[in-house]
Amino acid sequence: MKCLRSLEVAIYLSLLLLGWASAAFPKTPVRVFVSILPQKYFVEKIGGKLVDVSVMVEPGADGHTFEPKPKQMVALSKTMIYFAIGIEFENVWLERFIAINSKMLIVHTDAGIDKISMITQHHGEERHNQDKEVIKDPHIWLSPPLVKIISQNIIESLLDVDPAHGSIYKANFKKFMLEIDDLDSELRKIFAGEDTGVEFMVFHPAWGYFALAYDLEQVPVEIEGKEPKPAELKHLIQHAKEKDIKVVFVQPQFSPAKARIIADSIGGQIAFVDPLAADWSKNLRETATKFKAALR
Ligand code: ZN
Repeated sequence: MKCLRSLEVAIYLSLLLLGWASAAFPKTPVRVFVSILPQKYFVEKIGGKLVDVSVMVEPGADGHTFEPKPKQMVALSKTMIYFAIGIEFENVWLERFIAINSKMLIVHTDAGIDKISMITQHHGEERHNQDKEVIKDPHIWLSPPLVKIISQNIIESLLDVDPAHGSIYKANFKKFMLEIDDLDSELRKIFAGEDTGVEFMVFHPAWGYFALAYDLEQVPVEIEGKEPKPAELKHLIQHAKEKDIKVVFVQPQFSPAKARIIADSIGGQIAFVDPLAADWSKNLRETATKFKAALR
């Protein structure tokens, strides 16, 4: 009986402590979590010093097969906003994040974006993922026009959570929109003069929205995690030869071994482009230059 009492007291005390901890929640910097590194860039552009951004998928990790670390789960308990972007692991984990911190606001920064499917119209035939319904392409952050929509969703939630600093968020946002406009016109210039639908080959199809924005066509080796069957591989190699494709782009998070095999069989080479780089503007500029060089 006495033992039960002290247990009750212990529970009561810890509840008190929890209550105290949430009451002492600092207003700024606003602690937020994002799924991937490029989102950190967006949130910091808009939030500046008023936000403290943690990233779920740490550098070098693969966003498709990711699982959070225990220390990240602990950090979530002190987070005010989780900025989701719509990548796979969120489907499973967002619920668990909410279970840890029910006060945390989950913002779907992909809201309002019409996603393209991962099925690619390639060489007149469709490559399906048979067992599942159509998979939507999650790589929206690689298109400057779409990052404007993502940013709109970010600023709206920051204004909700921290209205006192509204004018700062708005001024930062305006500046960031100008940065995106500048980048966008720079990329348009890079690809000006290319034929519409000129092709580049990537191992992992992360650049579909980028291609869409600049009138290029991405020829993927894999369809979201699935490697090509021998017949498809043969077809791809044939296609690359016909189109005079000489570069297979790979991302640093994946092993380049398979891409190297394809590159060898078309007498080409592999090159690296990173869909998850921290400096988003600089990365897109560099990537555009690499794609452009491969179109020669
Ligand atoms: Zn991906």
